[in-house]
Amino acid sequence: MQLQDGRYVLPGGIDPLELVKRFDAPLYVYDASVMERQYRRMVEAFDVPRLRINYACKALTNLHVLERFRKWGAGLDTVSIQEVELGLMAGFRPEDILFTPNCVSMEEYEMAVQRGVRINIDSTSILEQFGNLHPDVPVCIRFNPHIMAGGSHKISVGHIDSKFGISIHQLPHVLRIVEATGLRVEGLHMHTGSDILDAEVFLAGAEILLDMARHFPDLDFIDFGSGFKVPYKEGDVATDIGELGRRLSERFRAFCASYGRDLTLMFEPGKFLVSEAGYFLVRTNVVKTTPSTVFACVDSGFNHLIRPMFYEAYHHIVNLSNPAGKPRIYTVVGYICETDTFGVNRKLAEVREGDILAFYNAGAYCYSMASNYNSRFRPAEVLVENGQAVLIRRRETLQDLLATQMVEAPVNE
Ligand SMILES: *Cc1c(COP(=O)(O)O)cnc(C)c1O
Repeated sequence: MQLQDGRYVLPGGIDPLELVKRFDAPLYVYDASVMERQYRRMVEAFDVPRLRINYACKALTNLHVLERFRKWGAGLDTVSIQEVELGLMAGFRPEDILFTPNCVSMEEYEMAVQRGVRINIDSTSILEQFGNLHPDVPVCIRFNPHIMAGGSHKISVGHIDSKFGISIHQLPHVLRIVEATGLRVEGLHMHTGSDILDAEVFLAGAEILLDMARHFPDLDFIDFGSGFKVPYKEGDVATDIGELGRRLSERFRAFCASYGRDLTLMFEPGKFLVSEAGYFLVRTNVVKTTPSTVFACVDSGFNHLIRPMFYEAYHHIVNLSNPAGKPRIYTVVGYICETDTFGVNRKLAEVREGDILAFYNAGAYCYSMASNYNSRFRPAEVLVENGQAVLIRRRETLQDLLATQMVEAPVNE
């Protein structure tokens, strides 16, 4: 979204305030051109004979978004059987879907086998059970390289205390299971967490995984996970995807030469592909002045966008309705009956009651983490593409809240 001639516009000249008039607020708006640009950036950064980018769809699971990524040539990374079902509905071929769950039951793996998707196993217990039941179904193994990475402890999943993956120190046990069951290991995988700043961290992890790979002669792919950082505010450092691409491609080509075969280099970004494509538009209900603070109180809360409260994530905020207004300092809060602060001491063009504010970086882990807390409806979602704005999910209604409740007769009869 750009400030053009004194007002904010989306690509194709679409006025976000018009979208609010059409679809009401709060509203999620996604710019497909940003998703496509990010996907192409990723693809172009790597120079290897076989490359696969799987979209980690937990970031944003709308079917229309999934379909776009399929059309652009991506595969899909899924963490639940429900995401697998959505991927299949969006037209992905089973072999283009990787199922990477954590701590799920054998029954859920069984369902994934029935769907024919690729399976990523992250404990020795499941590996052994799986190998006994399905020695003929190839698997990927998720290793934990024990690298401390990630923007906050909550999103760092590769460290020593983490529940994710099979420890690299358990390699002998893994090899024993593989040999005893006759499993074919077609892939190795790692994912060290989100918000990794540094190409060095990736390369260190990659080195460890490539070291593991020598022990598995039947590999088809090596998946280096994700964790690419995107900018949230001016001056933020993002993962230098170009540098990472150059250095890892070179290392990977050398590895393949020594392995004797070209393997597929795989990544599974979520945030990198969709974070910057999203905006969350909210309406200011009240401007409230206390002895210490001016609050801009909006018609949303952590029921719709939990990242600021859950991860202390920063989301840039602008006032769409009064872009030329005098800058003033606000704390932006929601309408939930609990502390739900979106941003503290933010300089915004003067906010008046009724003004529409926009949160940036609202593409990843925003709608997909939304809930019905306080019995509020989840917002609608709009996809902007080629100068058109299309409603891709309607706003919920009271019927949606009641859909799963066993109500036989009106309660207030
Ligand atoms: C969440 C997750 C991703 C995506 O992480 P981002 O930081 O959004 O890129 C990739 N792989 C696995 C296994 C995940 O759990």
